Formats: sequence, structure tokens, C-alpha cells
Amino acid sequence: MEEKNLAKELKEKLFRQQKNGYKRINADEEKAISDFANEYKSFLDNAKTEREAVKFALEALEKNGFVEYKKGMTLKAGDKIFRNNRGKAIIMAVIGTAPVADGVRLCAAHIDSPRLDLKQNPLYEDNELALFKTHYYGGIKKYQWTTIPLALHGVIIRADGETVTVNIGEDENDPVFCVTDLLPHLATEQMSRTATKIIRGEDLNLLIGSIPFREDETSEAVKLNIMNILFEKYGITESDFISAELEAVPAFKARDIGFDRSLIGGYGHDDRCCAFPALKATLDCKTPVHTAVTVLTDKEETGSDGNTGLCSDYLRYFIADIAEDSGSCGRDVLSVSECLSADVNAAFDPTFAEVNERNNCAYVNKGVCITKYTGARGKSGTSDASAEFTGRIRRLMDSNNVIWQTGELGKVDEGGGGTVAAYIANLNVDTIDMGVPVLSMHAPYEVISKLDLYMAYKAFATFIAD
Ligand code: MN
Ligand code: MN
Repeated sequence: MEEKNLAKELKEKLFRQQKNGYKRINADEEKAISDFANEYKSFLDNAKTEREAVKFALEALEKNGFVEYKKGMTLKAGDKIFRNNRGKAIIMAVIGTAPVADGVRLCAAHIDSPRLDLKQNPLYEDNELALFKTHYYGGIKKYQWTTIPLALHGVIIRADGETVTVNIGEDENDPVFCVTDLLPHLATEQMSRTATKIIRGEDLNLLIGSIPFREDETSEAVKLNIMNILFEKYGITESDFISAELEAVPAFKARDIGFDRSLIGGYGHDDRCCAFPALKATLDCKTPVHTAVTVLTDKEETGSDGNTGLCSDYLRYFIADIAEDSGSCGRDVLSVSECLSADVNAAFDPTFAEVNERNNCAYVNKGVCITKYTGARGKSGTSDASAEFTGRIRRLMDSNNVIWQTGELGKVDEGGGGTVAAYIANLNVDTIDMGVPVLSMHAPYEVISKLDLYMAYKAFATFIAD
């Protein structure tokens, strides 16, 4: 008996404890988790694209006393600033009590999500149906994007230079759009294809209408009728699609999942479930010690290239500018800065357990996930945080009662993926991945846990205040 207790005691002391988060929180925290989830769901419904996320952030920032940063500003502790990058990415900062020269605490999340983008010449008619051609954005299982209601979000820059903002399919009274699929009765050949080809890229055509223009006998009368509706509604002609960014995204709203309401189903958790906590942590940040910098970036899902993606220099320029304004130099600031690359990880799914190695994967309800390295095939493409920095983050989380876990994205050589971590680490910044585990990642309807979401907020708030 005594020996058995000793073993139990020793186990508690020596083994890593990985309890379900719900066994570690009190009623107050349970309430905080639920409140935070409600705010988050409203963000999800109102910010389905990178442009809408920036707009949402801008409104929140201005309401909370953040001002647009202009190079040459005198910056002092407690100042709150932001820089809007073309309405598609945004950087925000709260100046700390320590000199900027001591480095910043950087939190980086992305606000673009997989979707169907319209091609630049999208509109066509085929057998008296009007359709839009699309080119999918990000890594998707194409077959998942058929037969679900889709809304259209984005902008059209007209020939006269006017910007038309489009958001159709979200209001209950709006029409929606969809990609059709073949009935099973006639799908023998289709179902014999490999899954990547069941629906091909060129099959992702959006159904948008069927009534022909009534007057006169003319060809392409359905297309004409649609163009006429669009002209009346937006003042656009067909050529204006060339200078447009129109994104088809799932039209459904975020909802609680489960009898216990512990999960959230919705579009674009990757990476809004990290972007929103990072934004909230920054808004709630009183005067931090080190300057807190949060970046919500675009283009992560296509590899971070382009001037609104984190492979561009826009973050480096911002740091250089605030460094200069504080009598320091950008590269010196970056070299002593630290970053949480706030992005999601895959949650263990019992239905697809075989892709994970159970000792090193993320689980629902076990908290925000720290990922030391990403990559694939022998850690290729990862920045791999140092043991020292991982140790520092671990101590910081533990001393602030953040429930966290650690996990890799799948088994070795099972596949893999990356985040913006490597691009920030390449600026000579200590960087580690931290984010919320997601079920059905990159599907039109992804699932996360409310507890994990809240722990991400707590983790980011702890980090940027430090
Ligand atoms: Mn992501
Ligand atoms: Mn992703």
C-alpha cells in the first residue's frame, strides 16, 4: 500500500501532467471562456475576409484610443498606434515602459482563410445558366466546397476609379451562391477518381443565375440579365471584374457545437481563432514593459508572398520606423525581440487518429498549443525555436496559469505545414508557434474548443504585457 502511494507521488512529481483543461478551471474562468467565445463568434460572422478583419480591427482600435502611426512621432510609454497596410493587413503597437531598444513582444496571426476567389474574367453562360469561374485560394479539399451556401465578399475597382464594396449572402434575405456536384446516380466515373480529382479546380464554378434577359432575341441572354442586375446594383460592367477581388466564402454563421456547447463550428477559425485573441489582448493591454506589437497579416494561406504577406518587408519597416523614432535602429530592436507566431495546429481527431503520434499532437480542451517546430520531411522549412526560448515561454505560461500543451502537426513524414514563424525568425527574432488546435482545418466548417480559444487569449495577453 505504502509503495503504491509512493509510485503515485513519484509519478505526479516526475511525469508530465496533461489533464483536460476543464478539470483545471474554476467557475469564474468557465464564465470568462463562454463570454469570450460569444464575442469571438460575432467577430467570425463579421470578418470573413482579410479586408473585413482589418476593418473590424480598425474600428476597435480607434474606439480604444489607438491612432494612426506617422513616421517621426514622439513615442512614449502607453502610446497606442497602428499602421494599416492597404486594408488587408494591420500592425498595432502599445509602447512599453522599457526602451524600444530592448526589443518588442511580437504577436503575429493571419486573417486570410481558404476560399474560392473569382477569376478576373469570371462571368459566363452555359446552356442558359450563368456561372462564375473561380480559382481556389489556399490548400483545400476541393470536393468540400460543393453544395454549400456561399456568400460573395470583396471589392470591385470600377473603370472610373470608384471602389464598390460587395457583401452579399450574409443577410438572411440575401441570395447565396453555390458550386454544384454530380448526383450519385451518375457519378460512377467521378467516384472512381482520386479524391484530389473528384472535383477538379475548373469544376469549382459558382452558380449565379438562370433567367434570360426578356427583350429581343439575343445570345447569352442569361449572362446579359445578370450583368444588367450587377450594373443596376453596383454600376459595374464586365470589364470591372478585371480590377476586382471577389471571394466566395461559406455563408453560414458560427455556432456552438455539442450538447455542452463546448465547441464552436465556423468558417475561418484558421487563423481568426488566433487573430481575434491577439487583437483583444492588444486592445486590453495597459502599458506593457516591452513594446507590444501585434500584426494581423494577409496571404499566409498562399505562402506569405506579396506586399501584404509576411515575406514582404512591411513588418520590418514598421519596427525600423518606431526604432528610429525612439533613437534606436531597427535591426538592433529585432535582434532582441521575441515573437509568438499565433497560428493554429491540427487537433487530434479520433476518427482519423492514424495521422498523429499520440505523445506529440494537440488535443481539444488541453489548452493553447505550443509548437517548437513545424515543417515537413526532416523539419524542412521550420525555424525551430531554441530550447532556451521554449523554456522561457513555458515558464511564462506556467507562472500565469495559462493552460497549454505541446504538439506537432501530424506524424513524422505524414505531411506537414508551416506558418509565418520562419519568416519572422529569419529577421533574427526569437520565434515560436502558439495557437488553437482545430478539427477539420481548411474545411468550410472548422471546429475549435472554447477553452483552447480563451487560453490563446490568456497566453497572448501574458506575453505582450511582459
Ligand atoms: Mn494558419
Ligand atoms: Mn491554414
